[in-house]
Amino acid sequence: MDFSIHPHDGSTCPHDDDKMHEECGVVGLWNHPDAAAVTALGLHALQHRGQESTGMVTHDGTRFHSHRGMGLVGDNYGDERVIRSLAGSRAVGHNRYATTGDTVLRNVQPLYADFEFGGLAVAHNGNLTNAVALRRALVRRGCLFQSTTDSEVFIHLIAISLYSTVVDRLIDALKQVIGAYALIALTENALIGVRDPLGVRPLILGQVKHADGAHSWVLTSETCALDIIGADFVRDVEPGEIIVIDDAGLRSIKPFPRTASRFCVFEYIYFARPDSVMEGMPVYDARKRIGVQLARESHVDADVIVPVPDSGVPSAMGYSVESGIPFELGIIRNHYVGRTFIEPTDSIRHLGVKLKHSANRATLAGKRVILVDDSIVRGTTSRKIVEMVRAAGAAEVHMRISSPPTTHSCFYGIDTPERGKLLAANHSIEQMAALIGADSLAFISRDGLYRALGHDGRNPDRPQYCDACFTGEYPIPLPDMADGDGRQLSLLTETT
Ligand code: SF4
Repeated sequence: MDFSIHPHDGSTCPHDDDKMHEECGVVGLWNHPDAAAVTALGLHALQHRGQESTGMVTHDGTRFHSHRGMGLVGDNYGDERVIRSLAGSRAVGHNRYATTGDTVLRNVQPLYADFEFGGLAVAHNGNLTNAVALRRALVRRGCLFQSTTDSEVFIHLIAISLYSTVVDRLIDALKQVIGAYALIALTENALIGVRDPLGVRPLILGQVKHADGAHSWVLTSETCALDIIGADFVRDVEPGEIIVIDDAGLRSIKPFPRTASRFCVFEYIYFARPDSVMEGMPVYDARKRIGVQLARESHVDADVIVPVPDSGVPSAMGYSVESGIPFELGIIRNHYVGRTFIEPTDSIRHLGVKLKHSANRATLAGKRVILVDDSIVRGTTSRKIVEMVRAAGAAEVHMRISSPPTTHSCFYGIDTPERGKLLAANHSIEQMAALIGADSLAFISRDGLYRALGHDGRNPDRPQYCDACFTGEYPIPLPDMADGDGRQLSLLTETT
């Protein structure tokens, strides 16, 4: 994630399509004869978690090898020569989605550095909320930063630690950082996975069994990355847990006091791939149940339920099942729109909607339509979609959203606009309905969301998820922020 941890103001984002975005996906592999090719496959499955750049570092028992490039996984690892150059049976890979316009090769992860104990490559998903303060202190001590990513703080904290082993140095570094993170590190002797103490960002452990009885270990963000490489899911890495895999096997270290976990609830709503299982719950099932609950809470008479594809599809199916109103594909998504088509300025951002979605007139004309989407961020996309559905002849357009109103920015590794640009932060639901041009608008309640995910509503004494973007209740402190509403105290120079 970028070092500039403030939510962007929308003016520099090169690829905004009015959605919150996951910012990174990580894969680590230990003891696999085709480590580079298999890691590339895992990264391909995690493409939805980051499309700006991708990188991989491998180790062949003697030397590290690396490849970093801008663009998609397929653009970078489709060339067999690249895969062959990434020799070795151990690998760590990373997909990145940048928040600011300064995506440059030096920010592409995994980051790599040589230490007195040898080389270390680090891939990070998440965001450190005290990175600015830490970086300032480290620069004062003479550390020279090579990138503008907050993840580099880990490298310097490990470098200056007085402990002797890599793992002790890493623990020392982890005890100084505050934030949300899933980390995978590759050293000359070990693959290490770490999840932040509240488990906000996901990290799982898997295993590939080989015909000769040998096995490989996999660490990654989502189970869909295990499926593509034929690995079995072993378990979630626990919040605050460090997993060290080396020639002696696998060991678990828990250096933090145990606290209630706060997994990111938006992973269920939108970020994770629907075929993944997160914290024991299939994402597809969760989304359908959210749609069922949404229908219970926000019934309106209508003729068709239409999802805003692709992410609104499972919730719309749940809504349809519960309401008995037929499900129709009234909006068709063009999957072949290049991201560069979507211009970064407010004045023409809406054009991206027309490129990406088109109305299926046959299912909409003369109908009372319930549109189901996963969230409203700025509202620009919703407005254009409602307009498009009306232009296709819909008699009424009702918008139903499978998340509570997004009123606050995320500082834990998700790309969100600053609070002032979030429609729900500054408008009532009636005002929002008018602005997007819908006949009615409703969001799932926060309590209903928890119910859909198998809890008895949200119990304030026992919160189970991070839901700060709906509540403003940030479970991890934000020391780098002036006031937690989206403005940052200060920024170190961003250069390209
Ligand atoms: S603030 Fe929202 S998007 Fe960010 S980690 Fe929490 S629930 Fe997820």
